Formats: sequence, structure tokens, C-alpha cells
Amino acid sequence: MKEESYKQLLEQKGLKKTKVRITLLQHFMSIEHAQSYNDLQAALVNEVDKSTLYRSLASFEQAGIIHSINDHSGLTKYAFGQPPSQGNEHAHFVCEQCKMVYCMGKLAPLQLNVPKGFKTNKVQAILKGVCSDC
Ligand SMILES: [Zn+2]
Ligand SMILES: [Zn+2]
Repeated sequence: MKEESYKQLLEQKGLKKTKVRITLLQHFMSIEHAQSYNDLQAALVNEVDKSTLYRSLASFEQAGIIHSINDHSGLTKYAFGQPPSQGNEHAHFVCEQCKMVYCMGKLAPLQLNVPKGFKTNKVQAILKGVCSDC
């Protein structure tokens, strides 16, 4: 994606086209696996200060540019793209060797039987195994 496309995306989402946001978008697009806050901070240490990074992530998530993933490691990870929502769920893959987290393809609707009186709002699927790099 060219810089112009990032600017368009930010504009569409009603976000200001700051240099930091463009840098952050470029970083998300250049890396295949999900990033924790610490990963991002380490990668962009010379370009973004902590609080700006924190705020940018929050506004990206709110705008649906990125989504957060709870892989049960205790660290939230972020990946580019719309969050998995009802009707458009996708699974996440956690590599047990390198600990990287990847967004997987769309999940087929799951038919899970829940007891009477329970209502499912969202399904979060985590697959565990070994990634193609390991
Ligand atoms: Zn791996
Ligand atoms: Zn994802």
C-alpha cells in the first residue's frame, strides 16, 4: 500500500493524518503476525513516543482499523483489519514455538449448543500449533 492509501484510509475513518499514524499503519501492513504493545514500542522506538502510540492504537481500534486479540498470554496483541464480529468471525492461530499470533481465514458459523437462557454474542477461536516459519 502506498502512503496515499494510508491517508485515504485515515480520512475515511475520520482520523487525522498524522505522521505517527501513517508510520504505525505501514508497520502493521509490513508484518504478518499480530503485535503486542511492547513489540510496537520496540519497533517504533525512534518514531513514536509511548503515550502517542497508546492513543493511536486506541483510536485505530475504535475506528475498526485494527483489532485486539486475547491469546491468553496476558499481553493483548493487535492486528490490522476489522475485528471478528458476528457473521464475520475469524480464528487466531498461536504458534506454540515462536509465540507469534496470526489472523486466520473466516470461520464457518459454529453451531454450539448452549443451555436454555444463554445467549452467545461472539465466538473467539484460538488455534494452537506450529506456524509455517517454525
Ligand atoms: Zn512459529
Ligand atoms: Zn484477527
